[in-house]
Amino acid sequence: MRLIDADHMKEELLWGNVFLSAIQTNTLVDLIDNQPTIDPESLRSKGHWERPSKLLNIVNCTACKTTFPGDFDEFRYCPNCGCFMENKNGGSYVKK
Ligand SMILES: [Zn+2]
Repeated sequence: MRLIDADHMKEELLWGNVFLSAIQTNTLVDLIDNQPTIDPESLRSKGHWERPSKLLNIVNCTACKTTFPGDFDEFRYCPNCGCFMENKNGGSYVKK
């Protein structure tokens, strides 16, 4: 999927070098306006923190498998790959 600027596309249709009839232009503008808006955050990959050992104070990102010091499990995003950290129930990760 590629995110595009719908407003810019409408400007190009209305004022750019696109030669369409008024009906065709209005149809395309309506089509663009009726498309769903996607939250870019929904495209971000997701993971969670896991503790591989009870003896070592470390956590791993399940998405990129990078190991961090144990207190990194308070981070909502992995500093290495940027994925959003969910808790086991699917919500955002918040340390107790
Ligand atoms: Zn990661």
